Amino acid sequence: MRLRNVAGSRERIAESPFTIDNPEEHKGKWKEVFGNDNPVRIEVGTGKGRFIMDLAEANPDINYVGIEKYSSVLLRAVQKQTERELTNVRFIRMEAEIITEVFEKDEVDRIYLNFSDPWPKERHAQRRLTSSTFLRRYDQILKEDGQLEFKTDNRDLFDFSLMELNTAGWHAEAVTYDLHNDAVMNEGNIMTEYEEKFSAKGNPIFKYIIKR
Ligand code: SAM
Repeated sequence: MRLRNVAGSRERIAESPFTIDNPEEHKGKWKEVFGNDNPVRIEVGTGKGRFIMDLAEANPDINYVGIEKYSSVLLRAVQKQTERELTNVRFIRMEAEIITEVFEKDEVDRIYLNFSDPWPKERHAQRRLTSSTFLRRYDQILKEDGQLEFKTDNRDLFDFSLMELNTAGWHAEAVTYDLHNDAVMNEGNIMTEYEEKFSAKGNPIFKYIIKR
């Protein structure tokens, strides 16, 4: 998701009490950020943040961190959070490539990836957030029995993502090729902005839940 560059967005994000500057300083200490022992779940590529804020509202006993690389996009999330004031949500503007510098081993309870960028060129395959390169990074921060949930409408990306599991030592716990017509996996589903847009066009939504 690219929005036009919004002047001053980086500064406005930095001023918000809901964003974390210098996130590396909180590695191993996210409990202190939230002031409780509740599990920490993260969304990588959170965009305008609707999914993670809706999740947080529905689950006040879980802490959520939304990670987004573009300040112009994240500013929208921060503006909404300023209105909603959910105490269990924080945002970080950063590239997910450095995620192991921000979270300690076993510090993350669950990871969400929603409508991640496809990086269609083969030479960019390991930039995909579901690539074996990223799965190895997630492996270093996720609790032993933690899970990762991924949704997309991009069949090529989904097929690639399933193929990457074995390489990185993960396995699928559940897979659907039509989430919205899968009564079991769709139960309690919270739609993302992209999910709403693409399912309205008639695209089926693919989802997997994976573990190591
Ligand atoms: N998850 C949202 C949704 O489903 O509506 C947004 C989907 S949008 C297609 C993907 C988002 O992931 C973009 O906002 C993009 O900037 C962000 N993103 C992609 N690669 C990233 C990375 N390496 N680190 C952090 N954010 C990333």
